[in-house]
Amino acid sequence: MKTTLHTDWTVGDVCKGFIYDKNENKGLFGLGGKLIIQPEYQRNYIYGDGKKDVAVVDSLLRGYPLGLIYFVKNDDGMYEVLDGQQRITSFARFVNQSWPFAVERGGKPRYFNSLDKNDQDLILNTPLTIYVCEGDPSEIQEWFEIINIAGVPLVKQELRNAAYHGPFVTAARAHFSNPNNAKMNMWQTYVSGDPRRQAILERALDWVSGGDIEDYMAKHRDDDNIKELEDNFDTIIDWVDTVFTYAGPEMRGLDWGRLYKTYHTKAYDADVVAKRVDALLADEQVTDRRGIFEYVLGGEVDAKLLNIRVFDAKTKSSVYHAQTSAAKKKGVSNCPMCAAMDKGSNRTRIYKIGEMDADHVTAWSHGGATSAANCQMLCKTHNRSKGNR
Ligand SMILES: [Zn+2]
Repeated sequence: MKTTLHTDWTVGDVCKGFIYDKNENKGLFGLGGKLIIQPEYQRNYIYGDGKKDVAVVDSLLRGYPLGLIYFVKNDDGMYEVLDGQQRITSFARFVNQSWPFAVERGGKPRYFNSLDKNDQDLILNTPLTIYVCEGDPSEIQEWFEIINIAGVPLVKQELRNAAYHGPFVTAARAHFSNPNNAKMNMWQTYVSGDPRRQAILERALDWVSGGDIEDYMAKHRDDDNIKELEDNFDTIIDWVDTVFTYAGPEMRGLDWGRLYKTYHTKAYDADVVAKRVDALLADEQVTDRRGIFEYVLGGEVDAKLLNIRVFDAKTKSSVYHAQTSAAKKKGVSNCPMCAAMDKGSNRTRIYKIGEMDADHVTAWSHGGATSAANCQMLCKTHNRSKGNR
């Protein structure tokens, strides 16, 4: 990757040819048409709140630096703003009076045209500090991730969109990152995150690529359509929507791409599935409600997915009686944690079954099963303290 520092471009240079598109909610072009101010991977303009935009111009009038700005230079010689879009759009709106706003100067609100010539020149002649980078997408992405630490926090998929920008990203973004897409409601039932921060697009890419998003984006970078991406995503979402009548919040953000791959060849009766899902959702022993869907898809074999907490009464009773008779023989408490204490009257206390709770000797998180062999009875105090750990 090649990086060049430019300090010869001024605010006035960057403002040349700028227009603000109110319908699209973004600023377009600068540097006399050579600069794309809001490429597809950038977020919408959010400084237009009468505070942040004003603060940018105020800074210029006070002679404060605006900070580093980053451009990417494309093969066709055009520049795109990587970081600095909000600042550039703000001062360019002011200078070019495209969606203009006023700043206070000499105790009065002033638009650019009503500023003194000196103040106008001060703004126009302010030099900017701009890094321009060109090169291999993976290098650019790596670099973005580094500058991202100090700068505007772009999320991973925004960084990828920047590194692999082109017709594919433009089309993918227009489809998956548009909150007004008619399918957005359904998508958000199953996919978590903010679509404007590329969360839906990221999931769609993750699923179609089998987890190697960068590789997929590199291969399809110059595609002028997103058919495969769209079809794959639609297929998965339609499958989930068909198999499950239920559409609650527990389903949002599950790895449906993996579940589709694993289970889509199996036939499901939607009515049976719906009944089982309802029953499991109502079952107090199921502590991981998000695991219900894979559990049902897998034929209700892997109970670990549900994080079952409670032992049944029969197991508790048999463990209690075995533990209690052994404890009595030794003259210690039937709560092993009480029996292990150095002192105190509970060391030898025999609890009634109602004063104890069942505990997994090996925790669920470590693969312990809900079986008699993995069950011990603890006094309620010790069980609670263990459970809280
Ligand atoms: Zn105890």
